Amino acid sequence: MARRGPGPSHVRPPTRTLWRRRAAALAGLLAVVLVVVVAVTSLAGRGEENVPLADGGAVVPVGGTDSTDSTGSTESADGTTVATGATTRKAPPPPAAGPAVRIDPRIEPRWTELRGEAGFLGLPSAAADCTPSASVATSCAQEFDGGSLVWRADDEDAATATYATGDIPDGAVRLAEANDPESTYVVVNKRRELDPVDYAPDTVAIGGPDGGGRVLRADAAEAVEDLLAGVREAGMPMYARSAYRSYAEQRSTYSSWVSRLGKERADVESARAGYSEHQTGLAADLVPSTGPCRAYGCMAGTDQARWIEEHAYEYGLIVRFPEGAQDVTGYIHEPWHVRYVGKALAADMRDAGEPVLETYLGLPAAPDYD
Ligand SMILES: [Zn+2]
Repeated sequence: MARRGPGPSHVRPPTRTLWRRRAAALAGLLAVVLVVVVAVTSLAGRGEENVPLADGGAVVPVGGTDSTDSTGSTESADGTTVATGATTRKAPPPPAAGPAVRIDPRIEPRWTELRGEAGFLGLPSAAADCTPSASVATSCAQEFDGGSLVWRADDEDAATATYATGDIPDGAVRLAEANDPESTYVVVNKRRELDPVDYAPDTVAIGGPDGGGRVLRADAAEAVEDLLAGVREAGMPMYARSAYRSYAEQRSTYSSWVSRLGKERADVESARAGYSEHQTGLAADLVPSTGPCRAYGCMAGTDQARWIEEHAYEYGLIVRFPEGAQDVTGYIHEPWHVRYVGKALAADMRDAGEPVLETYLGLPAAPDYD
């Protein structure tokens, strides 16, 4: 049977098409309106951003947007005075850009010396406060997260200057000493070579029956002697199997490891000369002299290891390579290796619950040699 012609359905499609066209036209118009609105809005926004700012060296316009005083100058965010008279000029020095506060260029060299952002001062928390003004300063002070730094011109031209550390916590001062081999806070690891590399301290023998004839710096020797007396009194005597090792001794020790195991393994087992804490005269290796374990390898978990873990701080000593800290210290857990840091620091580390010296002082991790 022949199908009926299009019938009513023949009429409807054009109607639908028409509506579709109208709808499409309306949508198109709305889209155009939307585009125009967006464009106008973004232009307006950009216009605001285009207002010349003092930072980035942009020229400050005459009668700038900041409050202008009667002398025709503008106080910018950091207190820098910017001339806004008939002649415009670039703003000296550049004030803060965005949320970060700039470090005053006069303070920056000292901040960099103190290890910059990675050091104990961290980042600036406020703009520098300079007297009499930033452009002709004779002194500037700036606050950082970890303390403050002060710069003072020594002469009229500020050709030479003196730095002072303002409000800096004890821990930060200790960090400043981490580079000094004479300091009990010196930090030596695989990324921190001793300076000078062949540094040699004055040493004395560790006293008492368990000193083993080993030598250390006087303050460390006394601390180790006292600790050995303490552990002996607790009924589990130990002795100092190794203590100070000179640069030359360390060099030959390391070389023998290299010839036996190759460089890669040697770096795990022994420190390169100039990178060993034993060369500071502040570290000793202690092993039990009674009981089933009388060697380094079996010491973890022994009563002696636990006693040292618990009591070392009372003598100003720390277990320098604690468990689970190899990524930071560069060494596996060494329950036998104690390091003298002084009673104040050892107690602070314990109170802070931070057994890793690098982490406590805010120094970078030293998992391996550079
Ligand atoms: Zn050791």
